[in-house]
Amino acid sequence: MAVSELRWRSSAQPGLFELGRRVAGRGEYRGLTFWEVEARTIINRVPNRGSLPFEFTINAYRGCSHGCIYCFARPTHTYLGFEEPEEFDTEIVVKVNAVELVEAETRPGRWGGHPIAMGTNTDPYQPAEGRYKLTRGIVEVLVERRNPFSILTKSTLALRDLDLFVEAARRTTVSVDFSVGTLDEEVWRQTEPNTPHPGKRLEAVARLNQAGVPSGVLVAPILPGLSEDGVDEVIAAARRAGATHVYPIMLHLRPGVKEHYMGWLERNHPELAEQYRELYADRSRLRPRNRRRRDTRTNRQVPRPAQLELPFSLPESRRRTST
Ligand code: SF4
Repeated sequence: MAVSELRWRSSAQPGLFELGRRVAGRGEYRGLTFWEVEARTIINRVPNRGSLPFEFTINAYRGCSHGCIYCFARPTHTYLGFEEPEEFDTEIVVKVNAVELVEAETRPGRWGGHPIAMGTNTDPYQPAEGRYKLTRGIVEVLVERRNPFSILTKSTLALRDLDLFVEAARRTTVSVDFSVGTLDEEVWRQTEPNTPHPGKRLEAVARLNQAGVPSGVLVAPILPGLSEDGVDEVIAAARRAGATHVYPIMLHLRPGVKEHYMGWLERNHPELAEQYRELYADRSRLRPRNRRRRDTRTNRQVPRPAQLELPFSLPESRRRTST
C-alpha cells in the first residue's frame, strides 16, 4: 500500500479530499490503483499566476499513468503523502464528484463565465479517463453553459469527445491542444513511455481542425541533447497538420522533478549528465540566452531555428504551461 488512509487524512492538505475507496485496476488498467475521492471544490484559482495565460483550472485527476520522465507535476503527489516518485505513474487520485462540482460551481449567478484551462497539471485524457469519463462530463457542463475552455493533452482519447468539441466551438471559445515534444521514436519511447505515438497526436490535431475545433501544438518539453535537434521537424509537422498555433517550451527542472529526471539521465544517457548539471546548476528554467543556443553534446553554440520566430509562435495571450 502506497499511503495509509490515516496519513492521507492528515496529509499536508487536511480536508481537501474525503477518501471513498481504493480500487485495483484490472484488464487494461492492470498495475494502476485508483484512489476514488470526494473533492470539496473543483475549480482552482491560480495563485500568483504571473505570466500564465489562465486564471482558473480544473484537474479531475492527480497522478498520471502516461509516465513522462520529466513530468513537472510529480512533486504534487509527494505533497499528498505518496512516498516514491514512481507512484505518480501508478497511484491515480480520481475526484469522482468532479462533474457535479463543476455543475454547482458554474451555476449562473455564482460564476462569471471565466475561461477554464484543463491539462495544466495532469493530463485530462490520461488512461483513467477511459474508465471514469470525468473530463467528458466536465466538458458537457461547460458546453451547456457556453463557458470558454481550453484543453492540453497528449492523448488521442480526446477524439472520443469530438462531438462535444464541435458543439463547443459553435457556442463559445475553445481550443484543444496537444503536446508534441519530439517525433524521434527512441526519445519518445524513453521519455513518454505510456503516451500515444506523437504522429497520432498530430493526426488528432488535423482531425480537430478539419472539424472546426481550433487545435494547436505545444512543442514541449524540448530536452537538451535529446530532442532539441528535432524541434524544426515537429514545427513543420504541426504546420502540415493545420495547427492553429505552435509554441516551444524548454525542459523545466524544478526541485522534486530534477532529482527524478537526473537519476533517469544518469542511468540512460550518462554522457549528457555533466552538461545538464551545468545548464541547470542554479536554475530550474534555462535562461533565454541558453535556449536552443547550445548543442549539449558538442557544447557548441547553435543557430536559432527560423521557424521558432514569429509570426508562427503562439501569441502571448494563449501561452500555457505543459502537462
Ligand atoms: S507530462 Fe503530462 S502526460 Fe506526461 S505524465 Fe505528466 S501530466 Fe501526464
